[in-house]
Amino acid sequence: MPEEPCQCPDCQRFYREHDRLIRENPTLRQQQELSWAALQSFRTLAGRVLEDLQKTQPEGETALAAAASSASGPVEAGDQEAMAQALADLENINAHLFSIEALMERIFDVRVPEAVEQKFRELAGELAPDPLNADRLRLNRLLHQTPDLPG
Ligand SMILES: [Zn+2]
Repeated sequence: MPEEPCQCPDCQRFYREHDRLIRENPTLRQQQELSWAALQSFRTLAGRVLEDLQKTQPEGETALAAAASSASGPVEAGDQEAMAQALADLENINAHLFSIEALMERIFDVRVPEAVEQKFRELAGELAPDPLNADRLRLNRLLHQTPDLPG
């Protein structure tokens, strides 16, 4: 028997979101557009935040040097270190997003015939059926009924 998928609130939210994205974007074309929009919005926002934060950082000075040279107390020095780490992390994220974009462009060049898109729609309906669909509700009720005990 396959292992039951985790049912913690985070995972359940993920399953719901996963299924919703399939249900609402049931073709290759729509999945391409969805992923592209998600990537671009991530890049735009993260890039802009990084740019804005970098403006507030002291020019040509590492956070540690800035902390050492400032007359501020240890609390503020710790804050500056955390900020320098966050900036480095954001720079990494943006570099990775840039690489992902280059890879995604190849995926997005692909166009498939309508028959293949129809196959996408068909399997999307199987993988992520509408939770409010009458058949699904009936099936759920059946699955949650306790089986009759023999005798
Ligand atoms: Zn979980």
